[in-house]
Amino acid sequence: MINLETPKKFRLFVQQANQVADNFLRSNSRKYDLAEHEYPKELDLLASLVDGMSDSGQSQGAGATGVRRDEDDEDPTSDTVKKGKVKNGTNMSSVLSVIEMCWGDVGLLLSMPRQGLGNSAIASVATDEQLERFKGTWAAMAITEPSFGSDSAAITTTAVKDGDAYVLNGEKIFVTSGERADSVVVWATLDKSLGRAAIKSFVVPKSLPGIRVERLEHKLGIRSSDTAVIVLEDCRVPAENLLGSADVDPKQGFAGAMATFDNTRPLVAAMAVGCARASLEGIRELIEEAGVVIDYDRPVSVQSHSAATFIQMEADWESALLLTLAAAWMADNREPNSMEASMAKAKAGRIANDITLRCVELAGTLGYSETEMLEKWSRDSKILDIFEGTQQIQQLIVARRLLNLTSTELR
Ligand SMILES: Cc1cc2nc3c(=O)[nH]c(=O)nc-3n(C[C@H](O)[C@H](O)[C@H](O)COP(=O)(O)OP(=O)(O)OC[C@H]3O[C@@H](n4cnc5c(N)ncnc54)[C@H](O)[C@@H]3O)c2cc1C
Repeated sequence: MINLETPKKFRLFVQQANQVADNFLRSNSRKYDLAEHEYPKELDLLASLVDGMSDSGQSQGAGATGVRRDEDDEDPTSDTVKKGKVKNGTNMSSVLSVIEMCWGDVGLLLSMPRQGLGNSAIASVATDEQLERFKGTWAAMAITEPSFGSDSAAITTTAVKDGDAYVLNGEKIFVTSGERADSVVVWATLDKSLGRAAIKSFVVPKSLPGIRVERLEHKLGIRSSDTAVIVLEDCRVPAENLLGSADVDPKQGFAGAMATFDNTRPLVAAMAVGCARASLEGIRELIEEAGVVIDYDRPVSVQSHSAATFIQMEADWESALLLTLAAAWMADNREPNSMEASMAKAKAGRIANDITLRCVELAGTLGYSETEMLEKWSRDSKILDIFEGTQQIQQLIVARRLLNLTSTELR
């Protein structure tokens, strides 16, 4: 089903993304790791270039909006479906560009103006009218609260309809780009007693009264990315900023809100694949300089420990890449991909943690030193196994799908 080679039509695009990642992200990587919370101003120019490409239709899904599924994609009677054609579309190109950018720097990719996780949420579930209205906004995504992380059905932030607005109250923590973004996609419940079906997401411009950034977090990795606590106090949000349908349909349950994750999890998997590749390339250079020969034609059992470990890590990395491409390919070809998106996220998050740390180990004292980037990549990769659903939560989702059990039956 999947060819591991980059589709021909994206090869030049991937090359260009790699050059951009090298010039704008890798070259500023250490600077903003050390200067936590400082705004990476170099990204403004890059973001303008991406905007320009999007406006001229040349972006090929380079940014967060690339995850939108065309209307034609959803229509089983469309020509593409009827003719059985397969395609590599914007989900595939987004994943490919995110891999390159995170080879450059994960934190800086997360700091790209107008390319937040909230933008992906808007692209995934907004109506065409909303998409047009929110064009150009930089949107963070706020689900997590002090009382829960993984169990997103436990949302306590409330949204109460009052005339032509919803009044939002609650506290959101660990919001990526929460300070720098100009709007936040806030998940809130219309009525806690109605359970998951009443959870909706709202685009909340930060210019509105009643929303404020309380503080920023200091973190292990991705230090160039700002992570904020956001408080909503009687914040009146226009009713038309509710994403998707306002109806509370118990049969639909959480499906609407969760659809976002089918598109964003492959992107986070792609971040992990990119970061792990940076480490693999880094360690390869170091061990080869030290005289280690990596020989794919001989069994690993007769090679040095470093060479054998490298080959094993590379095989793991390839399987994560394959799962990530598969999940994106399915989205482009309008196949339901919830399980594959979770498989990709689980595998890629785990191998990225594993590979980046083992590369630190293989490089010895150099691996632990700030003269190399290996120690940074091992810190940066940790989050990729946590946000957008932890390793354990992805495994739970995959198990539910395989065993055909609901979230109440298997928790
Ligand atoms: C740097 C950073 C950036 C973030 N950015 C965002 C953001 O932009 N927006 C946002 O909304 N959130 C964000 N988060 C929050 C992130 O999504 C949560 O941390 C994550 O969902 C896990 O929640 P938790 O930390 O409360 O852990 P918990 O849910 O308390 O889990 C703790 C541990 O228990 C495990 N666990 C939990 N439930 C189960 C279960 N049923 N079965 C097995 N194991 C289980 C988890 O896997 C984890 O290992 C960010 C977090 C960080 C650290």
